[in-house]
Amino acid sequence: MKLKLAAFLPEIIKHFFKKPATVQYPFQKSYPPEGFRGTPILKSEMCIACKACERDCPAEAIEITTVSAEEKTFRMVIHNDRCIHCGQCVDSCTTDAMYLNMDFELATDDRHNLKAVYDYRRAIPQKKTTAAAL
Ligand code: SF4
Ligand code: SF4
Repeated sequence: MKLKLAAFLPEIIKHFFKKPATVQYPFQKSYPPEGFRGTPILKSEMCIACKACERDCPAEAIEITTVSAEEKTFRMVIHNDRCIHCGQCVDSCTTDAMYLNMDFELATDDRHNLKAVYDYRRAIPQKKTTAAAL
């Protein structure tokens, strides 16, 4: 045992004077890598209330209800306590109304704090520019 420690001693001493290889989080701000899937955010001014995101969400984290059919107003609730950050809602959205931000510090002592509520009027569907139409 003594012999083994002696073999490693120079290496151990060397590391005492080296800068730590680990990130000093939370004392220093840490940034997630590119492509990180954070929290889903709705750009309500682009949402046509087609409900594709609600239909495809595997965690049933999205709930869209009609507030007024006449006024074309809707409420979307994103239950971030259920969200598994898969990004399916972003993929399913045909109008780019949904994106994932880069937040990862989501810890809370009350899961209801994670609920995001959006009240909005349905956007006018934009005509798609297809290759055939050009
Ligand atoms: S990221 Fe995935 S789990 Fe979260 S709301 Fe979107 S589809 Fe649902
Ligand atoms: S966010 Fe996109 S997929 Fe979801 S209801 Fe709005 S337009 Fe449809």
